[in-house]
Amino acid sequence: MLTGPQFLPARLEKLQASIASAALSAGRLASDITLIAVSKGQSAEQVALAHRCGLTDFGENYLQEALAKMDALPPVGLTWHFIGRLQTNKTRAVAERFDWVHTVDRLKVAERLAQQRPASAAPLNVCLQVRLAEEDTKGGVLPADLPTLAHAVKDLPQLRLRGLMCLPPAEPDPTIQRGYFAELRRLHEGLIHSGIPLDALSMGMSHDFESAILEGATHIRVGTALFGSRGP
Ligand SMILES: *Cc1c(COP(=O)(O)O)cnc(C)c1O
Repeated sequence: MLTGPQFLPARLEKLQASIASAALSAGRLASDITLIAVSKGQSAEQVALAHRCGLTDFGENYLQEALAKMDALPPVGLTWHFIGRLQTNKTRAVAERFDWVHTVDRLKVAERLAQQRPASAAPLNVCLQVRLAEEDTKGGVLPADLPTLAHAVKDLPQLRLRGLMCLPPAEPDPTIQRGYFAELRRLHEGLIHSGIPLDALSMGMSHDFESAILEGATHIRVGTALFGSRGP
């Protein structure tokens, strides 16, 4: 495997070919799929290099790390996605500095983001994280509680509810991977039928983005397949 930072352009080219081929199999346009470069554990220089290679969307999990990188990079041309666990005491900086939040899983967090999003800024794009498997360590709203949460969040000011996100357990079997993504897609369609105009399905990472694209992912979040290993 090409692991050094200097191989980022080569890894990106390979990744884009895989995205294009999965999109073709799904009868979809590759241009309808946003590649979010997950830059946690990577330096601001790596983000700048990825940007020079044409990437515009970056995903970060840890607030302090993300803010340091934002401060080191030019303020325009980059779209920042918060994809980490969101504690209520972190919402203000997220509301002020990010363009998207993918991990909203309770109303209290959404209400704080709505209050704290500056009036001068465009509405904050929000995905609701859904918990599809029994895993205590990961967040996410249970599917049974999703409709109530979605209907409440869609009416909050300064937020734009865009769709759903999932982070299923690492699973080598593509059939099982697809099962999770198919379930998120069904939940997404159910909400659309109930009158919520969603357009984003944030699903798929380095090891399973192809399965996610086959099930309709609009945003894939890829770290290691792009930047290489995050180290120990
Ligand atoms: C780290 C992370 C990713 C990227 O994972 P890779 O396996 O490195 O592609 C995607 N989504 C979330 C929520 C993450 O925390």
